[in-house]
Amino acid sequence: MQLADRLTRISVPQTIRMAKLSRELKAQGIDIVDLSIGEPDFDTPAHIREAAKKAIDEGYTHYTPVAGYLDLKQAVAYKLKRDNGLEYSPDEIVVSTGAKQSIANAVLSIVNPGDEVIIPTPYWVTYSELVKLCQGEVKFVTCGIENDYKITPEQLEAAITPKTKLFMFSSPCNPTGSVYSKEELEALAAVFEKHPQIFIISDEIYEYINYVGEHTSIATIGTLKNRTVIINGLSKGFAMTGWRLGYMAAPLEIAKAADMVQSQFTSATCSITQRCAITALRGELDTAREMVAAFRERRAFIFQALKGIPGLQVNEPDGAFYMFPNVSAFFGKSYEGEKINNADDLCMFLLHKANVTVVSGAAFRQPECIRISYATGMPRIEEGMKRMKEWLGKLS
Ligand code: PMP
Repeated sequence: MQLADRLTRISVPQTIRMAKLSRELKAQGIDIVDLSIGEPDFDTPAHIREAAKKAIDEGYTHYTPVAGYLDLKQAVAYKLKRDNGLEYSPDEIVVSTGAKQSIANAVLSIVNPGDEVIIPTPYWVTYSELVKLCQGEVKFVTCGIENDYKITPEQLEAAITPKTKLFMFSSPCNPTGSVYSKEELEALAAVFEKHPQIFIISDEIYEYINYVGEHTSIATIGTLKNRTVIINGLSKGFAMTGWRLGYMAAPLEIAKAADMVQSQFTSATCSITQRCAITALRGELDTAREMVAAFRERRAFIFQALKGIPGLQVNEPDGAFYMFPNVSAFFGKSYEGEKINNADDLCMFLLHKANVTVVSGAAFRQPECIRISYATGMPRIEEGMKRMKEWLGKLS
């Protein structure tokens, strides 16, 4: 069968592959502790669920405008003003079926074949695959644990060429949990000021899951708002991954382009989700705070537990719900003739021996690390850490 050549450029995310493997083992009755999860383990807040039920009863069951209902875009603008101090008009906002689609809309609107796109690594897997679909050239910049896996202004400057069109990053970051401070963003902004042709995609989907307090959007710095696409949505902060709602806030030309792209792909996201999103965006953030309080407790526990495993090197992340320890000390070690050559091998060892699912850092272009999610209840995290310590201790 002769399928499209573009398929050879992209692959299934390893996060999704690990989740599938884990499900298969669970289906065989094996007690798997799944620490690969990329979504909050909390229920969607009751007031948002109620708003959705009301929307159904009120008949919000028809096609909506492609970029979302006007009053929803106004609610997004309200949120951006309230939380980020940014002014956007509703035409600069495009609501989609998730942050993922918003990123796709932005990349399809910005990247031409041959354009270079700078992506600091470790990074969220989808960024590069979308660039490749547009036949752009991905330029990865490797960021080290010594700078909490964040790009420095020097690294950014060195990566820029006359062909650079776009810079894409997330803060808080998946997979590292790192958060860029205002000062760090200002230092990057000073570099961008010298290169006005570069657009920025700032993925802020983990905005509320932040343990250091203030979230800063790079769009608030200098004149960068004129070329930044903010990506956000309801999936993480409101525990609404299945509802499918994301949005971009962007300069008008990009928003119009994204609206056109989306009109050919999905028309718009679900009408019911859109109605209850207004309630979510305009409402109090109490439930998000409660969720973050639980994540904070788990983060403290898991950080101490990981520090207690000889050979692991780990930073305490400021955001999201992931730990990203360096596991390279185990490379070359064996258990009963099974040798661990890399992080992929270690993940398989942990899955099959400890029955703990984690994701190899290779998936995020950091092959010395593994990503451990703490978006699961405390008893499972405790069990997972116990098993990891036991089985890693058997490698010699
Ligand atoms: N960006 C990042 C950094 C993510 O981790 C995720 C979800 N794993 C997304 C975007 C996609 O979110 P959504 O569910 O809104 O499409």
